[in-house]
Amino acid sequence: MIKIKTKEEIDKIAQAGKILAKISNTLKKSIKPGITTGELDQLAQNEFQRFDVVSAFKGYRGFPAHICCSVNEEVVHGIPNGRKLQDGDLLSIDLGIKLDGYYADAAFTQAVGNKIKPNIKKLINVTRQALSKGINQARINKRISDISSAIQGYVESSGFSVVREFVGHGIGRELHEEPQIPNFGKPNTGELITEGMVFAIEPMVNMGSWQVDILENGWTAVTKDKMPSCHFEHTVAVLKDGPVILTQ
Ligand code: MG
Repeated sequence: MIKIKTKEEIDKIAQAGKILAKISNTLKKSIKPGITTGELDQLAQNEFQRFDVVSAFKGYRGFPAHICCSVNEEVVHGIPNGRKLQDGDLLSIDLGIKLDGYYADAAFTQAVGNKIKPNIKKLINVTRQALSKGINQARINKRISDISSAIQGYVESSGFSVVREFVGHGIGRELHEEPQIPNFGKPNTGELITEGMVFAIEPMVNMGSWQVDILENGWTAVTKDKMPSCHFEHTVAVLKDGPVILTQ
């Protein structure tokens, strides 16, 4: 069952979301050639402490870090480590926090440095746009699959593919609540969207084929064809007048 949130609950998620957006901005400014993903994780940990929030990922089913850092062909769930980012790399950061019992979840992708290939720029723009197209469907009387279909249609018409193995989700007192929100599917099927639902919508877009493998660490998903992948995510509330992004 999809949990409907009260105004007070949405306000709490929004509070977490606001802090999450601030921390995202701090991380974005620190992404440059030479920094390691482990240093970005440390920076995130410092920020979580400063704002007195808890990482939603650290310890989640044993995840060892505070944020996910996925580089180039890594799709999601990259584990921060000593890898130095290079000019031209593509970095996705996924971060979630818990504040006062409520979660917010967001992700962004950024190219490192200045040597950014045009096809990488296009991948970033298409994924960001796909997220907006999905969010725009998060309206009363639409259905969950309208979000999925809008994302898939836009991504595939742009020449890229959507990952099947990982999906968006409801969010609130739990990091992952019902419903699952795939980034593919037929429109006008699945559950009806009503006021007070809160979703984490998160297209993962591959430049090549949609297939992924999981690395030996048991976490990190990489594209099977080793081509780059991109990820954007926002936590979104469905209100009377339409979707409201809580993590910006
Ligand atoms: Mg998520």
